[in-house]
Formats: sequence, C-alpha cells, structure tokens
Amino acid sequence: MHIVHIAVEMAPIAKVGGLGDVVTSLSRAVQDLNHNVNIILPKYDCLKLSHVKDLHYQRSYSWGGTEVKVWFGKVEGLSVYFLEPQNGIVWKGCVYGCNNDAERFGFFCHSALEFLHQGGLQPDIIHCHDWSSAPVAWLFKDQYMHYGLSKTRVVFTIHNLEFGAHFIGKAMQYADKATTVSHTYAKEVAGNPAVAPNLHKFHGILNGIDLDIWDPYNDKFLPIPYTSENVVEGKRAAKEALQQRLGLKKSDLPVVGIISRLTHQKGIHLIKHAILRTLERNGQPEFHGSDIDVILHRTFLGHPFSCILEMNVVLLGSAPDPRIQNDFVNLANQLHSSHWDRARLVLTYDEPLSHLIYAGADFVLVPSIFEPCGLTQLTAMRYGSIPVVRKTGGLYDTVFDVDHDKARAEAQGLEPNGFNFDGADSGGVDYALNRAISAWYDGRDWFYSLCKRVMEQDWSWNRPALDYMELYHAAKKY
Ligand code: ADP
Repeated sequence: MHIVHIAVEMAPIAKVGGLGDVVTSLSRAVQDLNHNVNIILPKYDCLKLSHVKDLHYQRSYSWGGTEVKVWFGKVEGLSVYFLEPQNGIVWKGCVYGCNNDAERFGFFCHSALEFLHQGGLQPDIIHCHDWSSAPVAWLFKDQYMHYGLSKTRVVFTIHNLEFGAHFIGKAMQYADKATTVSHTYAKEVAGNPAVAPNLHKFHGILNGIDLDIWDPYNDKFLPIPYTSENVVEGKRAAKEALQQRLGLKKSDLPVVGIISRLTHQKGIHLIKHAILRTLERNGQPEFHGSDIDVILHRTFLGHPFSCILEMNVVLLGSAPDPRIQNDFVNLANQLHSSHWDRARLVLTYDEPLSHLIYAGADFVLVPSIFEPCGLTQLTAMRYGSIPVVRKTGGLYDTVFDVDHDKARAEAQGLEPNGFNFDGADSGGVDYALNRAISAWYDGRDWFYSLCKRVMEQDWSWNRPALDYMELYHAAKKY
C-alpha cells in the first residue's frame, strides 16, 4: 500500500509534541511492514536540518499564484517531501504561534494535494492529522477525488480535540475513516459536536513508541546501556548522572520526574502541588481517610508514619504561555534557594535531558486533566520508570494500578504497572504518590521487579501499526 502523511510536525526535525512523534514512528512501523510511506511537510526555516539526510531540491510547481519548490530528503529512514512556496506566506521561525497559523496551514494543505495531483501521484491513503492538516479532508472531497486522485482514500486522526474543533468537525465529516489515539479518549470525546455525528467511522487506536528512538540499551544520553536484565545497575548509574548534572543530593533517594508541556491540560496545578507538598513534608506521607488500605499496609510492614521519606523532584517542562512560564520560573527560583539539593525545575525543551530523566527517575508523574494518549508514561516504562498518572484517556488505557487494577490489567493480558488516581484535586495526586514512595521505601526488591516488569511490557508500534493497516484496508473498501 502507498500511504502519504500530510502533517505539520515530524520528530525530530519539527517536533512540538506527541503529534510529531506519532507521524515519524507510525510511518516507520508501517514502512517496516513493507508498505510505501511518504511524508509531506512544510519547509520551515527552523527545521533541524542536521537530522535530514541528502536534502536536495527536486522540482517546482505553480499553485495559488506562486511557485512552490519541492525538496526531498530522508528523515529517520523515511522519504520526506518539503514544500516551500515562494510567496513568503509560510514557515517563518516556528511551527505554531505565527498569527496566521490557520491561513498558512490551509495554504500548505492545498499545496500538498496539488503537489500529489500535479506529480501524478495517487496514493492509496492520505493520512492527515489534527486541525492543522484537517483541510486536506474536505479539499480532497471537494476538489481532488473526482479527478486525479480518485483511487485515494482519506484517513484523519485526532491527536487532541482541544485545538481547532471547528476544523476537526469538518474533517470528521469528509474523511473516509477517522481515529483518535486511545479507546478511552474516543469514548470521552464521543459526545463532542465535532465528533458525535460521525461515530460510525471513528475508532480508537492507541499510540506506541518507537523502540529504536527510545532504547535504554542504545541511548547516547545515558552513562551505561541497560535492559531489563541489568535494570538496577542501569538505573542507578543514570540516577547518579542525573543528580550530578542537576546538582541534586547524591544518595539513594527516590526520584520523581515530570516531563511536560506546561499547559492546563497537563494538570499544572497538580504538578505544582506535587512538587511543593513532597518537599514541604520532605517526603513524609500524609494519609487521609480514604488511604486506610495504605495505612494498614504500612502498619503491617512496621513503618512508623513519622519516618521521613526523602525524595528528589525533577521537572523538565516548557510553557507556551509566557504567564505560566513565568510562574514556574518564580517557583524554580524559590525552590532552588530553599531546597537546593532536593528539587530541580528545568524550564526549557531539552531532548537529551529528557532521556536521562526517563532513565534516572524511579517514578514519572503524569497528572493530566485530559490526555488523548500520552507518550510520557509509555516512554517512562520503556526505561523502567514507574508511571504515576491520573486516570484519563490513554493514561487510563496504559497504566494499571498495582493496588487496584489487577483484574483490569489481566483482561489486557498484562500485569499491573504503576499507580493511578481519580479526581483533579490535590488529594488524588497525594494518594497515588504516597503509595508510590512508600512502596519504594518498603521493599527495593519488589520495586526493582516492578521496574523489570514494566520494561518488558510491549508499548511499541507493533500492534497499533497492524490496527492502522486494517483501518487503511477498510478505508480502501469504502
Ligand atoms: P503532548 O503531545 O500533549 O505534549 P505527549 O505525552 O503525547 O504530550 O508527548 C510529549 C512528548 O514531548 C514526549 O515525547 C515528551 O518526552 C516530550 N517532551 C515534553 N516536554 C519536553 C521538554 N520540555 N523537553 C524534552 N521533551 C519534552
């Protein structure tokens, strides 16, 4: 099958969030199944060109009153066409955040279809993503399916319905098949007016992670390679390197890591609460009425409640909204002076550091208010870190609580792999983190067997790529 993605993000050359990861890793997984996959991307002036092999100018075509230059190159083994219109309308400085995003992405979508049409390319599937390439779906139905591209079908994926619901509604209407990135998120958005009229063609397919990109055995950012067989040694070395790099107290303390785009979606009030409270009480658990099972458990194990459970907290995040960014900068300054050896907030985008945190942390906290799929918890598990998550969307579908979700995990053929909580208040996040930290202190053997177990679970694209292929075939029969 020939599949063409029309997208505005692609990891690692133009990645803003999970969408960029998915475009690259889904394409690679489908290509590995021996299908022909291409990607069409805007030629931003801020592309990370060091990751593009053999980039060269290929040809030009005319559209929309301008010349559009076509460049071709290889990214992570994938064939990518870069479109560069000569009218200056697009691709300046950033992926999103220019005042005319809708206009420039609309122009890009139309020029991508025109590129296929004028080049005589007739893929089996055009796959477009989120509001930014949603126009492909209706432009295709309106103008291209009747000539040139009549054998092609359109698949549309919602990565996040928060943005551009109006565009998404139009694409849902015109796409042959539509997906979103987890079963639970599909259920959560089923009543949304952008989705509801087209449930008959709407499916949840969980995202995966690219095992080559995220591989603790082959990761140049880690001090030593490791697999589930030497997870204790590997994670200890990574933790030391992380503590050293960030100037944290170097001792055998549990480390809680948070890697996040700092927006309201990601539960910033819960992130702040988790950081402040854990430092305030120096890791000493506080129990509420609802935590009676934990109290009994800890009493049984003979730990007095007054014991100090020290820990380190590391946050790597950046906020698109400058007010939120400022707020976190202030918090960082405050913490770095009062808890200089306990907490580190790194408020930037730093891919290498994210690898070290995934490996060096014991727990990765993801307290999102909503989360279509979430890649952070999957990557954490690949590196043997235990996810602590809020039960929503893909977080609910992938993290099964060691205390509460045995049956639900078994129904998926899995064993429990983390800690989770309900609610969007601080009590929930305290409840899950208290249990996680207590479990770490209660038994290191048990904890490391859990790390080994989560590393061995398969959150790759193997299964989802087959699900997408099935969907592409179903779309072709449409
Ligand atoms: P979203 O797409 O909503 O931001 P996902 O969990 O789907 O959330 O994907 C986030 C991706 O971005 C993950 O690969 C995560 O490691 C990465 N990431 C988020 N913030 C940072 C950061 N500040 N530095 C490096 N990587 C980050």
